[in-house]
Amino acid sequence: MIKLHDKFFKPYIKEEEILAAIDKMAKEIAEDYKDETPLFVGVLNGAFMFVADFLKAYQHPCEVSFVRLSSYQGLTSTGIVETLLDVPEDIEGKSVIILEDVVDTGRTLKELVHLFSNTNVKEFKIGTLFYKSDVYNGEYAIDYVGLEIPDHFIVGYGLDYNELGRNLREVYQLNQTDMINLVLFGKPGAGKGTQAGFLKEKYNLKHISTGDVFRYNIKNGTELGNLAKSYIDKGDLVPDEVTIDMLKDEVEKSPEAAGFIFDGFPRTAAQAEALDNFLESKDMKINATIALEAEDDVLVARLLERGKSSGRSDDQDESKIRNRFDEYNQKTAPLKVYYEKQGKFHSVNGIGEIDEITERLSKVIDSL
Ligand code: AMP
Repeated sequence: MIKLHDKFFKPYIKEEEILAAIDKMAKEIAEDYKDETPLFVGVLNGAFMFVADFLKAYQHPCEVSFVRLSSYQGLTSTGIVETLLDVPEDIEGKSVIILEDVVDTGRTLKELVHLFSNTNVKEFKIGTLFYKSDVYNGEYAIDYVGLEIPDHFIVGYGLDYNELGRNLREVYQLNQTDMINLVLFGKPGAGKGTQAGFLKEKYNLKHISTGDVFRYNIKNGTELGNLAKSYIDKGDLVPDEVTIDMLKDEVEKSPEAAGFIFDGFPRTAAQAEALDNFLESKDMKINATIALEAEDDVLVARLLERGKSSGRSDDQDESKIRNRFDEYNQKTAPLKVYYEKQGKFHSVNGIGEIDEITERLSKVIDSL
């Protein structure tokens, strides 16, 4: 195990395995290009080591150049890609093969393709050493792949965590065993959001409330917001596909988190299964599902009170509130059994002073 800044990483892909994958790529590309002189364009900074070893394995006429993009801040893809080193000159009529260290969501790739879109190249191909097929948006075909890997955060062999780790000869992955991932379970008004606010500070966790993400999108008039609004206004659940994809995006945004509090998710069996599969693919898991219990009448009174100040349309009308309880009883309550079977279900009395309830939840978390 090695430590870079504040995080621990464990060995993941050995040097020999990386070099074998590069050799295989070089052979494949040579099959297609050995009779011409392709221009290999490495994407800095991450690809410098890959490009060096690739060229040693590609012993045919070729040219090499680099572009530099910057999209990562720490472990998080900000979604903003800057160009720092532009397209090489005189590339008209050439066959360009991009050499990327890793393709994950495809955001950087989009920018790269854009960068070359106004050039009159003969051909434009994309090669990547590592390929996270699970998260790739599939917008462009990837022509040459070294190794397909799951969506783990990796460092080494040119890849960094906040600039450290690029010089490591092998690839390491973030060690997730210390993570705490919690599901806060309970009916609308049970106090999940309030308690998540305290727990995230106390345990340094990232709080994801699907309700909040929907409301944020509605406020900003996004496509997702417009889609969700009609369901939310009636107190119905938003369809699973939409919610699951959104949740995954939220998790992807914070790979550096010490753990997550899922608030308002999962709410259906399909969501619970999708969450388990998704976390497993990232070498993560749910540690506990904690239910905040309270009677319906108490909750209705709380929600109507909250509706007076929050402006939430679904909190202002008792029939919509009751509809949300019906949705809960039908679709969400059965998840209790799902988590009980995994030995992860805990129940906490949600009536009392806020700090008393935080105390009850902390007891469960500390016992994990
Ligand atoms: P909440 O803030 O958690 O009470 O959520 C408000 C509304 O957002 C719900 O009534 C649903 O319409 C929608 N919503 C939030 N989370 C989910 C989810 N996991 N699945 C489906 N719909 C959801």
